[in-house]
Formats: sequence, structure tokens, C-alpha cells
Amino acid sequence: MATFTVLNPATEQAVTSVPLVSAEETDAAIARAVAAQAAWRAVAPGERAALLRAFADAVDAHLDELASLEVACSGHPVGAARWEAGNIRDVLRYYSAAPERLLGAQIPVPGGLDVTFKEPVGVVGLIVPWNFPMPILGWGLAPALAAGNPVIAKPAERTPLTAIRIGELAREAGLPDGVFQVLPGKGSVVGQRLVDHEAVRKIVFTGSTEVGQQIMAGCARQVKRLTLELGGKSANIVFADADLEKAAASAPSAVFDNAGQDCCARSRILVQRSVYDRFMEMLEPAVKGVRVGDPASADTEMGPLISAEHRARVASYVPQGAPVAFRGSAPDGPGYWFPPTVLAPVRRDDPAYTEEVFGPVVTVVPFGDEADAIAIANDSPYGLSGSIWTRDVGRAIRVARAVETGNLSVNSHSSVRYWAPFGGFKQSGLGRELGPDALDAFTETKNVFIATEE
Ligand code: NAP
Ligand code: MG
Repeated sequence: MATFTVLNPATEQAVTSVPLVSAEETDAAIARAVAAQAAWRAVAPGERAALLRAFADAVDAHLDELASLEVACSGHPVGAARWEAGNIRDVLRYYSAAPERLLGAQIPVPGGLDVTFKEPVGVVGLIVPWNFPMPILGWGLAPALAAGNPVIAKPAERTPLTAIRIGELAREAGLPDGVFQVLPGKGSVVGQRLVDHEAVRKIVFTGSTEVGQQIMAGCARQVKRLTLELGGKSANIVFADADLEKAAASAPSAVFDNAGQDCCARSRILVQRSVYDRFMEMLEPAVKGVRVGDPASADTEMGPLISAEHRARVASYVPQGAPVAFRGSAPDGPGYWFPPTVLAPVRRDDPAYTEEVFGPVVTVVPFGDEADAIAIANDSPYGLSGSIWTRDVGRAIRVARAVETGNLSVNSHSSVRYWAPFGGFKQSGLGRELGPDALDAFTETKNVFIATEE
């Protein structure tokens, strides 16, 4: 059987090897999911809720183990990895309240009673990237299960360990056979089969815009339901009237968290020209102070990149002669390290400015007035997140409404909060995850009219 050797990105040492699931095995898993579907949807709402809570409790009881697996296979700092394991627990708990609240409507019509039902969509294929293996798994998994659907998850080839363990925990918590299966394997094999197979009725894909476009085309052939969470090139807009110290101190974590391998990374810092120099003076010590090193150490803030190939790709955005304003540090020796890097001034056609780097590289550009800031922020095919720093409430609201992106924060960098919807404008995605309406993406609305006239 073909296997994949999982490497620790901080040491380049082999962690373990994982079997790669074939197309035939994927078909067999889809058949098991189809077989499980009727029984899962028939589980009484309160019982489905209890199973999701038991699943959340099982995750909670294994937080340290899950975090260590993520440290070993993804190189995430252990503090972040613990948060990620806690996030999947919290999201399972949040959606455990949903089965008992999956409300339809009663609509006034003449001659009878009109009601709507939210029917489960069917088998859900969940294709997960390597950058946040646990949270992104949870955002699709929890509402899909809550709505009564079986789920087949395909973790990224490089980072399957937490998903495999979470699949085992689901079984231990009592989820029936076939309701949640994890298929480690290649996107071109397992992922493609989930897209192509007629019995899979919905795909949730998070990953690159390029692969997302192919998946959208594949789904179109069957009018298959699809949620896409894709790339980003988000703006962190700092106005002259902002708390500049706070804006500068927090700007590094807004882009260098997870070594910049974050679709929400604020990788374009836009600073009002009148405070540009002052902002840069304050940004420099903040960037140099980012603690880059051993992910297993509790005070590490930034770990390595995921792989040698990815590091080479990130490095290609900072060629010889690139306009490096200043950079932080990174360990020597084994591991896929790359120091936090600030590029300024950058040309507006520099690929480091226009493309998603997905690494610890940030560009800083000055702007004139509010209209200029909005125009620069919107001059991107992406629209996922962003931040606005100002003390002027009116301006904060005007700019928040004008920036074409799905998730904005004012005087903070919060993007993903599971209570609220998350997703992208433009080429950053299609549909929304999380928040109170997430079950809409996993249900079909059925309208039933019942005649009351004799
Ligand atoms: P990717 O190459 O697009 O891969 C994502 C997933 O799709 C992986 O599991 C991959 O499998 C699979 N895949 C690849 N080709 C496929 C195909 N033809 N059919 C079906 N599945 C296929 O992305 P990545 O490099 O892992 O992740 C980085 C990207 O994700 C960035 O662009 C980032 O912005 C984006 N992202 C977006 C969000 C969001 O919420 N908007 C969140 C996180 C990341 P393999 O493991 O075999 O490659
Ligand atoms: Mg890829």
C-alpha cells in the first residue's frame, strides 16, 4: 500500500507514515456513508445533540495529545495548537445545540398550511488544507453532522494526524459507523473522487484559489453544492488618528501568526502617509521581537513553514535586491525556517504585494486619505479579511462598509469567531461557514403545502 511519510517541519525528521487511500477505497467509504445516512438522519434531535456533546468531550479529554500531534506534523507553536484543538471542541459544542433548533417556517397561504423543512443535503465531502488542520475540519464537520449528514473528510496529505485521531475519538464517543470517516490521501485521488462521485452531494473545500476553481468546475457537472474558502491578501489599514502604538505592536501577529500560513493574514499594511515614518519606527522592534523557534516551547510565537517546497516558494517573493525594510530572526540548522520579513517601499506590481505569499512576509504602503485607503484595499482579486485602526467611529463604520471583504475587525485583528459567519468576497470564496446560519449550507429547504379545504 502506498504511504506518505509525515515530516516534522521543525526538525525535518520523520514522524510516522500514513497510508494513502486509493480511489477504490474512497468509493467504498462513500458507499459506507450512503448506507449510514438514513439511520443518522433518523437519530432523534436530542440524541444527535448528545452525541455531538460526547464527541466534544472526547476532544476535550485529548487536547494535549491532539496539540502534540499538530506540533509534530505542522510545526505549530504548542500554545496555538492547544487553541486549535480547543476550537474544534468549542465548534462541536456550539453546533450540538443545532439539531434541536433546526427550525423551518410556517408561511401564510390561502387554502391550506404551508411549512418548510430543512432536509439534510446528503453525504458531505470535506477537503481540508494543511495550514489549520483542526479548526477547518471542525468548521465543516460540526454543522454538517448536526444537520443530519454523514461526512467524509480528506485532510491535507502532509497533515493528516489530528484528523485521523479525531475520527477515532468520534467513534469512541458513540458516533455510528460510517457517519464520520477520515480518508488520508492525495487531493488528486481522494479529493477528486469526492468531487466526481454522484453520491457525494456537497463539497466543502478550503485551500488555494487555483484548486478551488477546478473543484467548482467539477461540481458544476452535477450541480453539486459547494462551499469554498480560498486565498486572501488582506489589508490592515492604519489611520493617523489610531492608537498607533497598539496598531504597530499588533501588526506582526496579524500577519506572522502560523508563520503567515493563514488565509486571513493581514499581509498588506496600509498606513496614512502623515504617520508612516512613526509607524515604521514602532513596527521594527515589534517585528524583531517575534519569538521564532522550537514549536514545542511554550513561549514560541512563530514556528517553521510547512515544507521545503513551500519555503522555496515563500523565498521566491524575497529575491536578491528585494526592498527589505527590516526582518526578524529564525533558527539556523534543520527545519523549514523563514524570518518575519517586512518589505517597504514596494511597487504595486511586485508579486509580494499582489499575490498571496502564505508565509511571514508583509508589505507596507502609504496612503493619502480615506478614499485612497479604500481604493488600495479593494485593489485585489481577494476579499477575505482585514483590519481598520482609527479612533473615529464614523470613519470605522464607513470604511468597514466600503472594504470588499467578508470579515473585518476594528482596532483588533480578530477574524474567525465561531459565533459569527466567516467567508470571502470575490475570489476568496463562496458561501459562509460558522455562525448561526451555517446549517443552511448543509440542508435543502423543502416546502410542503397541505390543503385544508374540503
Ligand atoms: P491546496 O493545494 O488547494 O489544497 C487544499 C486541499 O485540497 C488539500 O487537501 C489538497 O490535497 C486538496 N486537493 C488538491 N488538489 C485537489 C483536487 N484536484 N481535487 C480535490 N482536492 C484537491 O491548498 P493548500 O496549499 O493546502 O492550502 C493553502 C491555501 O489554502 C492558501 O491559498 C490559503 O489561503 C487557503 N486557505 C483558505 C482558507 C479560508 O478559509 N478561506 C483557510 C485556510 C487556507 P493534498 O494534500 O494532496 O495537496
Ligand atoms: Mg497544494
